[in-house]
Amino acid sequence: MLIDSHCHLDKLDLAAHGGDVNGALQAAYARQVSHVLCIGINLENMGDVIALAEAHDPVFASVGVHPLYQESREPTCDELLAIAAHPKVVAIGETGLDYFYGEGDLQWQKDRFIVHIEAARECQLPLIIHTRGAKEDTLGYLRAYGGGAVNGVLHCFTEDLDMAKQAVDMGFLISISGIVTFRNASALRDVVKALPLDRLLVETDAPWLAPVPHRGKKNEPQFVVEVAEKVADLKGMTVAQVAQQTSANFFGLFQKAQPGVARSEAQNG
Ligand SMILES: [Zn+2]
Ligand SMILES: [Zn+2]
Repeated sequence: MLIDSHCHLDKLDLAAHGGDVNGALQAAYARQVSHVLCIGINLENMGDVIALAEAHDPVFASVGVHPLYQESREPTCDELLAIAAHPKVVAIGETGLDYFYGEGDLQWQKDRFIVHIEAARECQLPLIIHTRGAKEDTLGYLRAYGGGAVNGVLHCFTEDLDMAKQAVDMGFLISISGIVTFRNASALRDVVKALPLDRLLVETDAPWLAPVPHRGKKNEPQFVVEVAEKVADLKGMTVAQVAQQTSANFFGLFQKAQPGVARSEAQNG
């Protein structure tokens, strides 16, 4: 089994599945994708995210406000904690720092990031971190506000090996998206080669970032298979080995997520 550890299931383009999210999930189950973590990006979409997790046993949810969604209502720590108490909410995020576009309100991002770190620390759930062009601040804030008491994942990782290693040393996993299949992503492929497989997750970040050979199409959870195939290729391992280890990594990190219920829905479907 394979797990799509980061997907925006509420935002998929479902035209290929008759408008039915079940179609996208069944297509994923048919390719041995056993579970999907559906990520919250603002408080306004949390209802949709939680409804998907409630309706589908293999779908888990996270609660957070994305650093680039600055029009979103700002969450308090207590609000995050209240939503995180839901049995299917297994993580805090996505949160983090994204300086790629330069001159947004970076203080807004920093303040939100701190609130999320504090919530994760309080409820002892892992953090799902979006980080781009913000290496020093991301690591620095995790150190300063996490106090060694938070863990999580740096998702859709595109930064350098030094950042990955520092995060791993703090107890974080590194999640690899379809970017690893892109022609210009040789630096990321080197990161995958250098890190031990027991520190990696795989994800789609669907509906964005469809992997080769699906580029130009809308991404969906089943395409995590192509991500795992590329990781296996880089590691000189089988896809089954990558699937087994990254799934074990997933359940080791997201301990509130229970693996047992997935197969029955997959088989019933
Ligand atoms: Zn992200
Ligand atoms: Zn995302």
